[in-house]
Amino acid sequence: MHRRSFIKKTGAAGIAMTVLPGITLSQEMEYSIIELMGKTDIELYGKGINLRKEAHDAFIAMKKAAYSDGIDLKIVSSFRSFQRQEVIFERKFMTYTEEDGMDPLAAIDKIIEYSTIPGTSRHHWGTDIDVIDGYPKTEGDVLVPEKFGAGAVFENFKAWMDENSETYDFHLVYTDDPKRRGFKYEPWHYSYAPISKPMLEAFRSKNIVQLLQLEEFYGAEHFTIGFLKNYIQNNILDINRNLL
Ligand SMILES: [Zn+2]
Repeated sequence: MHRRSFIKKTGAAGIAMTVLPGITLSQEMEYSIIELMGKTDIELYGKGINLRKEAHDAFIAMKKAAYSDGIDLKIVSSFRSFQRQEVIFERKFMTYTEEDGMDPLAAIDKIIEYSTIPGTSRHHWGTDIDVIDGYPKTEGDVLVPEKFGAGAVFENFKAWMDENSETYDFHLVYTDDPKRRGFKYEPWHYSYAPISKPMLEAFRSKNIVQLLQLEEFYGAEHFTIGFLKNYIQNNILDINRNLL
């Protein structure tokens, strides 16, 4: 009896050995649709950081280096779920259409200057951050491009990140390249390339137009195929080429 169970165990172990490398590989390479769209919980690391393990570790290393140069890297926003993005989108859509009386399509165009359609935010991936310098005092909204310009409050932060962020594999996503379409310049939004590149590749291999047409949040009924195709081309794919 003992012998029999021993054989069974070794047999199972033998199979596991041969199958495991394949399983590990596919788990690393494949991201599910719900994961790519922020519709499932993923493992996040670090209090106030909330990134995937590898991205978290790289951020900590970058934060230490910045700290010794007098910059206090402070995350304003990192992982965001589909539901959270849905709340943001719907609130803006209601404000623009009901309070401001905008045409629905014009309202959507205005929303997507800075905000994403739920399910398409890079913040769903646990790889992207909105980051500033926590040291200087500043009033009002911090995520405005003017605050990162010459002579402005985050000028040193910007110079430091330009010089060092790529050493830690963090790349600016929405650059100030005048030829770039899609989202406006966001000097605060960085992405951890080693994970976000394969995630973008996985996402663009899905039928995004069809997925978004199935959505039922407020405003989604106005999405046409043409609009969604342009959105994918401009807002999802017209980004810093280092991240493609
Ligand atoms: Zn962002």
